Amino acid sequence: MKKFLCAVLAAAIAAGTMAIPVSAAWEQDASGVWRYEQSDGSLSTGWQKIGDCWYFFSSQGEMRTGWQYLGQNWYYFHPSGAMATGWVQTGGKWYFFDADGKMRTGFVHDGNCWYYLDGNGAWTEDDPESHTAVTKTGKTASLKNGMFYVDGILIANKSYPLPAGYAPGGLTSETQQAFSELHNAMAAEGLSLWVASGYRSYDYQAGLYRKYVNRDGKAAADRYSARAGYSEHQTGLAFDVNQVDDSFANTPQAKWLAEHAWEYGFIIRYPKGKEGVTGYQYEPWHLRYLGKETAKAVQDSGLCLEEYLGIDSVYSR
Ligand SMILES: [Zn+2]
Repeated sequence: MKKFLCAVLAAAIAAGTMAIPVSAAWEQDASGVWRYEQSDGSLSTGWQKIGDCWYFFSSQGEMRTGWQYLGQNWYYFHPSGAMATGWVQTGGKWYFFDADGKMRTGFVHDGNCWYYLDGNGAWTEDDPESHTAVTKTGKTASLKNGMFYVDGILIANKSYPLPAGYAPGGLTSETQQAFSELHNAMAAEGLSLWVASGYRSYDYQAGLYRKYVNRDGKAAADRYSARAGYSEHQTGLAFDVNQVDDSFANTPQAKWLAEHAWEYGFIIRYPKGKEGVTGYQYEPWHLRYLGKETAKAVQDSGLCLEEYLGIDSVYSR
């Protein structure tokens, strides 16, 4: 890696496009504190990705280690300074950190298993289904038959997958009934509405995701397609309507749905500007059935479902 960089820099210098650089470097002072000097001579402060790892430096440039509370989340930095992800044992207890480094509490799914972490993030050996957890907005989370519910609402997102064997086989009858009402109300106003993609099984989603990864790469695919088990389409409570592409957003149907879908028990599940929370880019065509009461409450809140329920949506790996 270093050799490669040197060759690139040497070429840039030879081409006259760059002044002779001072290479970035780690330095340790007499008291043992590490700092990272960047190639322009300034010290790294705040979050900094070096190599494959994230580090955190104080405003004075001091590298942090151990537990750190940053932006309302707990993180753990190894003695090397590298931010922890996955399982970490410290102080005799096990903790779990998501791929973005945030410490998890409550229910965590990893390697096809559920675990329960107490309010301090420490793993308990009890059966996770014997516990409930309080979300960031004070709602009650629980686990039943390997499925994650918040205030009785079944969740399928990047933090909370469904079991591979969960297969309602189609849209639930309640969802279908609500769709008929929605469809008829729109038809009365001359607006056409059809289900472009409804229920998807675990195996079907696995094939779909694989196809997208092969085409666009994993990082891009994760922005618009779910991994198997993580798709809301597997719940039988969600579906895509009409043309599933960006042009749909400007149609009268999309505008009508954004205003009225809640009246029929649906929400636009992945709203504009909420990608950092839902984990998915804007999808004006993806509807989730919640029932009229909950859909109204979410709509009135102006929040996306994760914000409303106080949960995250981020892959643990
Ligand atoms: Zn969808």
